[in-house]
Amino acid sequence: MSEKEVQKHSQITIALAGNPNSGKTTLFNALTGARQHVGNYPGVTVEKKEGVYTHNGRQIKIVDLPGTYSLTAYSEEEVVAREFLVHEHPEVVVNIVDASNLERNLYLTSQFLELGAPVVIALNMIDVAKDRGIEIDAGKLSELLGVPVVPIIARASRGLQDLMDVVAREAAKQKEWQPVDISYGDDIDNVLLQLEEAIVKENFLVDIYPARWTAIKFLENDEQIKEIISKKDAVLARGFEGMVAEVSAHLQKTLDTFPEAIISDHRYGFIKAILRQGVISHKYDRDRLYTSDKIDKVLTHRFLGPLIMLAVLLGLYKFTFTYSELPMSWLENFFSWIGAAVDSVMPDGLLKSLLISGVIDGVGGVLGFVPIIMFMFFGIAFLEDFGYLARVAFMMDRVLRVFGLHGSSVMSYIISGGIAGGCAVPGVMATRTLRSPKERMATLLTTPFMNCGAKLPVLALLTGTFFAAYQAQFMFALTLLAWLVALIAAKILRLTVLKGESTPFVMELPPYRFPTFKGLLIHTWEKTWQYIKKAGTVILGISILLWALMTFPGLPEKVTVDYDKQRASLQTRFAVDQTGMYENHPQYNIFMEQLEKINVSEAEAALRHSLAGRIGSALEVVSWLPGFEWRTNIALVGGFAAKEVVVSTLGTAYSLGEVDPEEAAPLSKTLAADPAWNPVKALALIVFIMFYAPCFVTVVCIVREAGSWKWGLFSMAFNTVFAFVLATLVHQVGMVLGYGG
Ligand code: GDP
Ligand code: MG
Repeated sequence: MSEKEVQKHSQITIALAGNPNSGKTTLFNALTGARQHVGNYPGVTVEKKEGVYTHNGRQIKIVDLPGTYSLTAYSEEEVVAREFLVHEHPEVVVNIVDASNLERNLYLTSQFLELGAPVVIALNMIDVAKDRGIEIDAGKLSELLGVPVVPIIARASRGLQDLMDVVAREAAKQKEWQPVDISYGDDIDNVLLQLEEAIVKENFLVDIYPARWTAIKFLENDEQIKEIISKKDAVLARGFEGMVAEVSAHLQKTLDTFPEAIISDHRYGFIKAILRQGVISHKYDRDRLYTSDKIDKVLTHRFLGPLIMLAVLLGLYKFTFTYSELPMSWLENFFSWIGAAVDSVMPDGLLKSLLISGVIDGVGGVLGFVPIIMFMFFGIAFLEDFGYLARVAFMMDRVLRVFGLHGSSVMSYIISGGIAGGCAVPGVMATRTLRSPKERMATLLTTPFMNCGAKLPVLALLTGTFFAAYQAQFMFALTLLAWLVALIAAKILRLTVLKGESTPFVMELPPYRFPTFKGLLIHTWEKTWQYIKKAGTVILGISILLWALMTFPGLPEKVTVDYDKQRASLQTRFAVDQTGMYENHPQYNIFMEQLEKINVSEAEAALRHSLAGRIGSALEVVSWLPGFEWRTNIALVGGFAAKEVVVSTLGTAYSLGEVDPEEAAPLSKTLAADPAWNPVKALALIVFIMFYAPCFVTVVCIVREAGSWKWGLFSMAFNTVFAFVLATLVHQVGMVLGYGG
């Protein structure tokens, strides 16, 4: 033999395997340098990389297997990886494992062990693990798994020499493949034994896979194995399928689950049992927990805790409203300025009306509230990242239990706007964490009562206009009201349609961590951006639709001609020419006043004549009870599409009724000046908006989560009737007490 042939003959092959992102490519490149070539595995499109590493003068061939999470044939990568192993029998499988994510990574390891492959674990990313306070005892892990474990940092090429020393040593041992048996519980183990027996007897794939391994793959519904056997022997295949079907049916009946799920549960159980024996220690987290415990002694104290919680929430309000005031006035001025600019450059007509009343007022009304929402979200993000929100849930459990809810319900409430400024859509989705179906339904149906970010603008507008001196206190009271109503409604539901037991509180209390400013900004921005996107798309569309409803059909020719005549006769009376009167004319003011009267009357007639006006007017049949006139009704109908629309619709309705869009004062001034509005009416409207039908998107989510339209319709009808009764009460009692001005 030539020297080259000798070398080739003695060359060992190792396979590099691991989860995606565990650092395989990094390690492969560090080991092989430039000596690698890339191709495809025969017959498939999966990339095949090979390279050479020289260890003490001996060449080691390294094959980079595709990254996979398991060895069951769910994807091409998994098939390629395991076929390579069983057909090529590499001397060693270097299993690269992400130390910062040990439990999940060891899932794949457990399958190498079951296959019997000689494994060396490259414990990668120990730097990342260390940063996170995770310390791993490699010696212990090695002892418990029965395979060598070498800590490395692939990116820094640290530990590679050690790793390859161990690999070379293992390769030299020329070990037989030794499958490790993992127990999957009585049911599965029994079937495995039967299948194994049959597999051995039929000599099925035994030259390639351990019989138990093939049996497990059967239970895991492995497509490839099933196909091979049905091609080879249809009768045998049917026999196997019968056994699998039997155990599946049994598991379905007894445990309500499938063999795959049990198998994966037991694999994780196997891993957990190993990790629990002192392999992993959380260094920082221990310290943090220690200080966290001390902080918790105060923050979740029986008496102090709730008091602190109230103070924190009130503080959040003060913070939000104090700091958002200035930027809000900037935005308000900005949008007035744009409106005025458009008004001065464009000729009168539909397009101008669309731009000013539909687009600018609509979007401006919504975007004007971005500062409030930003400051609110910033505060909430701080509490959440700090770890305090979870404590709120913990403390609230004692209270919520009384109402038939669960400590975790509080998360849904808070996400939906329980502190103010959330959204019922994610809130409804967050109920998924509740295990008991009845507690979950009760939370689902009451969570839209919270003051979501879309209700905030209209609540802020009305409190700011009519209760300016006490705005922060008022908003706080409205939050408490939302909770009170939600809890009472939940209790009623739990005593009637959702009767049943409560479940105990299980929720992790994360250690306290001081949030980073950058993290807070990112959270705040994400949530604010969601709101802006909604304003920019959904709300703009709805705003334009409502503008159209409010503009068409226009007044009949006959009526507009009549108004034109009135204006003409006014002009004749004051002897005004085409250019109008000069401001210093002695009768200028009287003339303008009379002209405005005619214009207002025309605009109002037009709005009433429009489709929206007709709907709003028709609703006055009942809406006089809570004191809403037709313009408010228009806004409330629009609010079903999305609550944000209430403010913009009020804005549009009132600016349409305005003579001169250029002069259109901000909505709050318009309302304050309107004799039809007063604090009692404002309060009745606030109450109605807080509790009437959830917006359309929320209803759709409720239907999806509850699994039937029945609950969606229920929440629409129930909430609207309930809100109507409450608003009527507020209005009637308020008027009787004489607060109606
Ligand atoms: P693959 O998907 O398994 O091929 O993983 P890559 O080799 O592409 O690595 C994923 C990421 O982890 C890359 O950004 C690497 O730079 C990084 N990485 C790999 N090994 C280490 C390590 O030991 N420490 C750290 N901090 N990062 C690593
Ligand atoms: Mg890679």
